Amino acid sequence: MSYLVLAFYLIEPIQIPLKAIENFKRFMDSHDMRGRIYINEQGINAQLSILKGQAPLFLDWYLSKEPFNRTKKIHQTPYFEHAFPKKTVKYRRELVALGQSVDHSKRATPVSPKEWEQMLSENRENTLILDVRNDYEWEVGHFEGAQRPTCRTFSTFSPLSNQIEKKFDAQKTKIFMYCTGGIRCEFYSSLIKARGYHHLYQLEGGVINYGKEIGNRHWKGSLFVFDDRLVTPICDEKSEMIAHCSFCNAKTESYYNCANLNCNALFLSCFSCYTGRLGCCSKGCAESGGKRSISFDKKSKPFRKLSFEEKKWLRQL
Ligand SMILES: [Zn+2]
Ligand SMILES: [Zn+2]
Repeated sequence: MSYLVLAFYLIEPIQIPLKAIENFKRFMDSHDMRGRIYINEQGINAQLSILKGQAPLFLDWYLSKEPFNRTKKIHQTPYFEHAFPKKTVKYRRELVALGQSVDHSKRATPVSPKEWEQMLSENRENTLILDVRNDYEWEVGHFEGAQRPTCRTFSTFSPLSNQIEKKFDAQKTKIFMYCTGGIRCEFYSSLIKARGYHHLYQLEGGVINYGKEIGNRHWKGSLFVFDDRLVTPICDEKSEMIAHCSFCNAKTESYYNCANLNCNALFLSCFSCYTGRLGCCSKGCAESGGKRSISFDKKSKPFRKLSFEEKKWLRQL
């Protein structure tokens, strides 16, 4: 385990984002570091991997600067290689794809993993456990009682908040919301709050933080992540696999990108269906002409070439 995967965000005004981007690029170029870092006037959203020995240098450098020194949590997970294919540091109009602006002064009450665990252990009458991730993330792991998100991607969050509004009384319902690392809750909680829900709580630091501090109590399965690991356990304790092969229904948590270059859809498959179907998501794709060669490697990685589908899920960060 000679690398560390770091994940963090900060929502605080950044005066000159382009300057910050320059600085990040320079630091990255002079260290063994890769990742995906988005910066704009509202803040930073970063996932990266770095040679373990250089991580303290990065942390010293990053945390010595305003406003970055106010970053609350930097998750660190060991990994045996780089979890990212390249270095991407860029300006993004939206840190979380929403298609609308958000009033950050209105947000949910943040709760620590410990409080969250307690809340889930208590009577859950009039309680909605809201997974604000995408359906394919929920598929491989989620909190007990959290319904499968009804939208494939979160750019369609507004219709979801309409549904919530129809089904759950704003005065009586307690909403516990969570996402991978916490940043999506920072944005979506403002939208839900605007609908009049005042008993609204968000898991601080997301599932990553919960796994590190509490383990997998009340959690089922693993965690989908947007890097080469694709799916990772949330803690050292063993967790039961909950996802199924899309073809034979056998238990699996392996995601693959369809080998048909025009498709590239992300799908769950057991290894034998994946090889038997030539790495494709459907019969049509398997019979199509434009297939890339695939290595029948048990440990799959996301396909690098950014297809429409891949761009679509990268946009969800
Ligand atoms: Zn199968
Ligand atoms: Zn396909």
